[in-house]
Amino acid sequence: MTAKDYVKAIGAQLHEKDGNQTEFLQAVDEFLSTVTPFLEKHPEYEANNLLALLTEPERLLQFRVPWQDDEGQWQVNRGYRIQFNSALGPYKGGLRFHPSVNLSILKFLAFEQIFKNSLTGLPIGGGKGGSDFDPKGKSDGEIMRFCQSFMTELAKHIGPNLDVPAGDIGVGGREIGYLFGQYKRLRQYDAGILTGKPVDFWGSLGRTEATGYGAVYFVNHLLAYNKDSFDGKHVLVSGSGNVAIYAIEKLQQLGAKAISCSDSTGVIIDEAGIDLELLKEIKEVKRERLTAYKEARPEATYVEGSLWDQAVAADIAMPCATQNEINLAQAKELVKNGVKIVAEGANMPATLDAAEYFIAQGVHYCPGKAANAGGVAVSALEMSQNSQRLTWTKEEVDQRLDDIMKNIYETCRDTALEYGAENNYMLGANIAGFAKVANAMLQQGLV
Ligand code: GLU
Repeated sequence: MTAKDYVKAIGAQLHEKDGNQTEFLQAVDEFLSTVTPFLEKHPEYEANNLLALLTEPERLLQFRVPWQDDEGQWQVNRGYRIQFNSALGPYKGGLRFHPSVNLSILKFLAFEQIFKNSLTGLPIGGGKGGSDFDPKGKSDGEIMRFCQSFMTELAKHIGPNLDVPAGDIGVGGREIGYLFGQYKRLRQYDAGILTGKPVDFWGSLGRTEATGYGAVYFVNHLLAYNKDSFDGKHVLVSGSGNVAIYAIEKLQQLGAKAISCSDSTGVIIDEAGIDLELLKEIKEVKRERLTAYKEARPEATYVEGSLWDQAVAADIAMPCATQNEINLAQAKELVKNGVKIVAEGANMPATLDAAEYFIAQGVHYCPGKAANAGGVAVSALEMSQNSQRLTWTKEEVDQRLDDIMKNIYETCRDTALEYGAENNYMLGANIAGFAKVANAMLQQGLV
C-alpha cells in the first residue's frame, strides 16, 4: 500500500469504529492530514502498522462520581481518565471539569497531548481526564466533596511513574489542592501524583502562568526570527481563565496591546488595552462574569456572543478559550481584519478547515499542541523539582520555559522546511511530535 493509502485506510477504520466521537476524529484527521510525507520517508512505521497502535488508547477508564450537594441531595457525575500513550513516560495531562466533557472530547485532548508532550522534549507520555461536573455556581464545600469522590476512584490508577494528572478547564489550584488532600488521606504523602499544586505544598513557581506565557514566548521567537517584535501589536485574546490572563500579562510586558477577553456568555473589547488587575480581581478572586468588567470600566465594550464574530482590526489572534471556537467563516473574517499570526493557547480552538485556511493564506498558524505546550512543560519541571525535593526560583523556571518554547518553535519551523512546507507549523508539530513517539514505540517492541 502507498503511504497515502495507508493513512487513508487508518482514518476510514477509525471513522467506522468511532463515528460518533466527532472531536476525537477531528484531532485524528488533522494529524493524519500531515503525516503522509513522513511515512513515505520511513516505511518501517507502516510495516509495523504503527498508526493503528497510535490511535488506540492504551487504557480508558470511566467511573461513577457520587457526591452530596449543599441541600444533602446525592448527585452523580461521570469521571474519566484516558491513558493514551506511555512510550515517552508516565501518562501526563490535565483533568477537565466541564458539563460538555465526554469520551470524544477527552480522547481528542489525550491524543493531542501525546504530541504536545513529545514536543516539550521532556519524559512524559500522553493522557487526559475529567468529568461532566459543572463547577460553575457550586460552593467550595460542593467542589471539595466532588473532588474527594473523584479522587477516591482515580487514586487507584495514578502514580508518579504511572500517570500524573494536572489541571485544565475548571480545574485549578483549589481543585488540585482538594484532590491532593484526598489522595494523601487514602494513601500517603506523595507529591509526585499531581502537578499544578499550589506553591505552598510542592507546586512549581510559574506553573499558573506557564501556558499563557509559553504561548507568547512561542510567538516572540517567531517574530524575532522574522525580524519583527510585539512592539505596538494589537492582539485579540479569547477566554478569561489562567491561559488568557497570563497570555495578556506577558503580551503587555513585551509591548503588545491585548484588546479583548471573553467568557462563555460574552466578550470584552477594550481598545485602550485590557485592565489586567481588574480582570484578575474578577476572575481569580471574585469568580464573577465579565459583565463585572464592563461595570467597572464603562469605556470598554461588552457584547454577548463570540469574540470571533466581532470585526476588530488586529495583528495577532490568540484563542485561549476552548475547542472549535473559530470556524472557517470566522477565520476568513480574521484574515480580512489584518491578522497575520494565530497562536492557540487553547487546545484545537480552530476547526480543521479554519486552520487549513490560515495556512493557505500565509498566516503563521501556531497549533495548540506546539504553542500551548508551556503548561505541561512546567508541569514536567514540577515533577523534576518534586523528585529532587527542591524548589527552583521563578526566574529559573521561566528561563527554562522560554528555552523550551524556543526549541518547540524551531523544531516546528525546521521540520516544516525539511518537508517542503515552509511555515506549516501544523505539519511541523505533528511530524516532529510523532517521530519521537513512533521511534520509542518501535524500540520498546510494542509492535
Ligand atoms: N491541561 C494542560 C494541557 O492542555 C496541562 C496538562 C498538564 O500540566 O499536565 O496541556
